[in-house]
Amino acid sequence: MVDSADNGERIFRGIGVSPGVVRGRIVILDDDHGERPARHRVEPKNFPAELERLQQALTATRRDIARIQDEVRDRMGSSDAEIFDAHLLVLEDQTLLDEVQKFIEAEGVNVEFAFHEVSENYAIALGSVEDEYLRERAADIRDVTSRVLDNLTGRGAVDLSHLTEPYILVRHDLTPSVTAQINPEHVLGFATDVGGKTSHTAIIAGSLRIPAVVGLKTACENMATGDYALLDGFNGVVVINPTDQTLFEYGQLEKEQEDIQAKLLEIKDSPAITLDGHQIILSANVEQISDTAAVLDCGAQGVGLFRTEYMFLDRKVLPDEDEQAISYERVAKALAPEPVIFRTLDIGADKIGHAIGESDEANPFLGWRAIRFCLARKDIFRVQLRALLRASAVGNVKLMYPMISGVEELTEANALLAVCMDELRAEGVPFDENLEVGIMVEIPSAVLTANTLGKHAKFFSIGTNDLIQYTLAVDRLNEKVADLYDPTHPAMLRMLQMTIDAGRRHGIWTGVCGEMASDSTAIPILLGLGVDELSVAPQMLLQIKYLIRHLNHSECEQLAVQALECENSVDILVQSRAMVQRAAPGIFHTVL
Ligand code: PEP
Ligand code: MG
Repeated sequence: MVDSADNGERIFRGIGVSPGVVRGRIVILDDDHGERPARHRVEPKNFPAELERLQQALTATRRDIARIQDEVRDRMGSSDAEIFDAHLLVLEDQTLLDEVQKFIEAEGVNVEFAFHEVSENYAIALGSVEDEYLRERAADIRDVTSRVLDNLTGRGAVDLSHLTEPYILVRHDLTPSVTAQINPEHVLGFATDVGGKTSHTAIIAGSLRIPAVVGLKTACENMATGDYALLDGFNGVVVINPTDQTLFEYGQLEKEQEDIQAKLLEIKDSPAITLDGHQIILSANVEQISDTAAVLDCGAQGVGLFRTEYMFLDRKVLPDEDEQAISYERVAKALAPEPVIFRTLDIGADKIGHAIGESDEANPFLGWRAIRFCLARKDIFRVQLRALLRASAVGNVKLMYPMISGVEELTEANALLAVCMDELRAEGVPFDENLEVGIMVEIPSAVLTANTLGKHAKFFSIGTNDLIQYTLAVDRLNEKVADLYDPTHPAMLRMLQMTIDAGRRHGIWTGVCGEMASDSTAIPILLGLGVDELSVAPQMLLQIKYLIRHLNHSECEQLAVQALECENSVDILVQSRAMVQRAAPGIFHTVL
């Protein structure tokens, strides 16, 4: 939505996914990648010129990739930089280049069209073979093709390297892995046309502490590179040409935020305990090993959700047992004696990477991902389980399986874990014999069978990001249905209640690790329903702790009883918001 005023100010409203206010110039990155270039007729006498253009584009692409590779190596280490070796190899592939030449000569067409057709045919052929390594090459080919086409057509050719000032990045979409590579020193904030609150792009922006707004729908169309903008990640607003009045209001907001931060730091080492003495375990969600410092800094009681799949994204070769064990051990050791709950590989949908090939499933969120993928690829799963077990010897490690839909998956996964334990025992490799294994409850069928699942699990961690999308049939990545993505929908409250009740019957704890646990409005209800643990984004942890410390658990329980009787979520929200405002005035403040 765009509001325009006579004073030249234009306000774009989307979904705030990472808090903070920044101002600066906008850079719009085109991402027409993957689109088919137009086909033009080329006379035979011009074939050499077309081929020369290709050579120039290849040279420019080699230079671009080498530069990106250097930057990634400096910032993230050589294993992350390695993925670009495969990209450079594609550029040297003589068979592919000969094919392009033949195509131009046979069809009499322009080089961009020929290059796209030939490389896409290669990618399609490779993407459908059994061999995993070859399948990964399909993604490399598409990535490189896109870069070569950028250089051939000049599209997307915003050269960020000579921008001296940090900028606000605007793009139609950003994948989680591209987002993970954003350098916060260069990018003040970012905005996208698509996306929702619980997309992994949003989650990564939060952990990088880059203010971000997604779901703006038409930002790319209506903004221009060079526009001066203010981006408000609290309220999900981007203001182009902000007036003095707007800048003044935001200046006030920033000042208030600084004061709030100072106040929040005072409770860093205090427990998350309500005014009437009810204690909640408050832990943090983590995507990358490097986030461990943020967990310590925010005073979390360990990690409630470690998304291990990030180590697998954009990898040419999957991390082996030693590499995984070293990484898991580092995190476990750094946080001991606090627990670290590692979630086993949840590859799929919004996080498919080179490691397992691109997804071409019609419904990836209902498809081959998470525990389904792991049980089908026990070779990969076994390596991870062994590495996690090894890490359990040096810290307080727990593990949980994602996307459990029924008891068979859980018992099959536990059986493989038992085999791994037997192997390690036989090899004399130490691990925690009492390692606790829980499940993510994020599929309605898991809620409905929680009584059975509870017999085989030591804890339940409710993944509301997925549980909401599956319960309400709302794609969590689709901004067009974002208004239907409703954490406090009466159906969701019943899902939460059923899970917590089943956990209690089995004497196991229930936590929430989806983004709902970082949403202030949901906290009184979650507490009232009886959750034992909340695992939240580190950047939200202190606010949530502050709120818990200013709530009365008994009042939350009354609210939950009422909420369960409400017919719609608006009534629930009004009451819950009022309670949050009373308990923590100004902490979750907004301006526009
Ligand atoms: C969830 O679904 O709530 C969750 C925490 O997992 P992810 O966001 O990684 O799917
Ligand atoms: Mg999930």
